[in-house]
Order: sequence, then C-alpha cells, then structure tokens
Amino acid sequence: MQYAKNILETIGNTPLVKLNSITEEIDSLILAKVETFNPGNSVKDRMALKMIDDAEADGRLKPGGTIIEGTSGNTGMGLALVAIVRGYKLICVISDKQSKEKMDILRAVGAEVIVCPTNVEPDDPRSYYSVSKRLATETPNSWYVNQYDNPSNSLAHYEQTGPEIWEQTDGKITHFVAGVGTGGTISGVGKFLKEKNPNIKIWGIDTYGSVFKKYHETGIFDENEIYPYITEGIGEDILPKNVNFDIIDGFTKVTDKDAAVFTRKLAIEEGIFCGNSAGSAIKGLLQLKKHFKKEDVVVVLFHDHGSRYVGKMFNDDWMRERGFLDEEITKAIDLIKD
Ligand code: PMP
Repeated sequence: MQYAKNILETIGNTPLVKLNSITEEIDSLILAKVETFNPGNSVKDRMALKMIDDAEADGRLKPGGTIIEGTSGNTGMGLALVAIVRGYKLICVISDKQSKEKMDILRAVGAEVIVCPTNVEPDDPRSYYSVSKRLATETPNSWYVNQYDNPSNSLAHYEQTGPEIWEQTDGKITHFVAGVGTGGTISGVGKFLKEKNPNIKIWGIDTYGSVFKKYHETGIFDENEIYPYITEGIGEDILPKNVNFDIIDGFTKVTDKDAAVFTRKLAIEEGIFCGNSAGSAIKGLLQLKKHFKKEDVVVVLFHDHGSRYVGKMFNDDWMRERGFLDEEITKAIDLIKD
C-alpha cells in the first residue's frame, strides 16, 4: 500500500509546469513551480513545518503549547496543519486587508484569528506585528514564530525548494523569479541555486508601496516608498532578516492593477488558478524580458492558490470598482463562454 502517514508527508515535491501562452513574447523556456500542490495550497507549508520542527528540537515549542504568528494567511494555514497533527493550539494575527477567504480558511482548520488594522505603523500597538508580540508574552507556554526573522523560514527553501528546482531542471536553470515578502522563498532557493551555479540570476518581485527595490539599489530605507497597496503576500514596510539582499540580482515592481489582471490571465490562458502574487510574478517576469536569452531556462514560483481570491481578483465587480477590468480579460472570458 502507498500512503502518507499524515498530511505533513505530502508537503513538497510540487510540479514544474511549462508556460505556453502568457509568456509567448519571450523565447526562453519558462517553467512555473506551482506551489498550490502543497496540502495547504501554498509554498508556506514547507517553512511552517521546518520552523515548528526546529522550535521543537531546541525546546522553544513545548508539548501542548500555543503557536502565535502574525500571518497573511498562507503561513497560518501551514502552521495550522502542523498544529493539528502535532497537538498545538494556534493563534493567527492577521491584517484587515487580507481576503475574507483566508480568514475563513484559517478558522476552518481550527485557528483562532485576530484581525488588526493594516494602515498603521509597524510599531503602533494596534499593528499585527505588535499584537502578535504582545500575545506571545501574555500567553503561557506559547511560542512566537516570527517568520520575518526566523532563519528556519529560508532554510526550508534552501533544503527543499531549491534542490527540487535544481533537480527538476537537470541543473539547467539560468534565472529564478519570485515574489518577496518575508524573503524566505527567494533567499533560500537563491542561496542553494547560486551555490550550485553562481551564474544563475535571482530576480525579486516587489510591489509599489514597498521598500525592497529602492533599498536593494541604494542601501537606503526610504519611508517615502511606503504607502498602502492591494497586492497580498509581497512587499514590506520593514526589512525582514530573511531577505538576503546579497543573493538577489535585481528587483522589479509590479502595480496592483497589473498583478490583478495577470492573475486572471494566468487562470484563463494557462489553466493555472493561482493567487495574486503569481500575477505579480508573471508580469514582473515580462518586465524583465530583456534579460532572458532564447537558450535560458527561467523558473518562476507561484506561491498560493486562486481560491483564496474569488472575492477579489476573480470577482468582476471587485475588479470593475477599482478600474482593473481590462478589455483584454473581458474578451478572453467572452471567448471562453462562446
Ligand atoms: N505570495 C504570497 C501569496 C505569500 O503569502 C507570500 C508570503 N508572504 C509571498 C508571496 C512571499 O513569500 P516569502 O514570504 O517567502 O518571501
């Protein structure tokens, strides 16, 4: 018989899928690492498991303990799966700009969800950073995960995601493109790939309203770069320890509108139903086009599943209200209906 001993054993080994239409203006082979195939439907299952494994190993997390994290949803989902299998309680502190679906999903897998305002400074006592830290000091037998600065986050991708991509491409990968939030994915994968072949280029996808691109280019943390944006999961108003700027060759910024439109295009043109940051990643990849040669093998990573955004990017009213509904998408939808 072939079966996994529990759901956690199904994490990882996600497929690499060739993109055939959405990137047709680029001659290189473009492959998508589709992380929705993880049991929690996102790449974050990998680091959630690794962070808990490491915290158990050195005694930061004790039997029957409470796990506390500030999470945009996907890390929470990963943590929830591990908490269920290993018997922990989970409290997720989330900002109010996250989709309702993400909050409902977290509650569905037994997490307690606390919602905080988005548009306050990180050190404001109401911010989700501050609230999660406070809860961790007030809750007995608790452990604050802190995915932003927890080294097990990028280590998960150094040990697992990076080697998978290297093996799946037979070592032929020349460029890796990924959205950057905590930085765990890009830094872990990027470090592994550059150790294998220092010529591999690592491209970060940032969003307007975030500090990463400017900081990478100038070394200046420019507060003028910070303003509210819609894209979920990528960009920050802080510099997480998990972003290893040294291994990233460059960033490109993608607008909220482009991210939303390209998330829709990905579903319609490739049948790949992914979340908002996948739209950013694919649009960013197109913006980087001049860097890719015909013989290159470009891998782009899609972080999470489209089901978490059915009330947002995949909802025509939501798109129309923001002026995001492009003629091109409308035409494509009409064609499919015919
Ligand atoms: N996309 C989505 C949807 C995410 O939830 C995250 C995690 N914040 C990212 C991209 C960025 O991944 P990382 O935190 O590993 O940089």
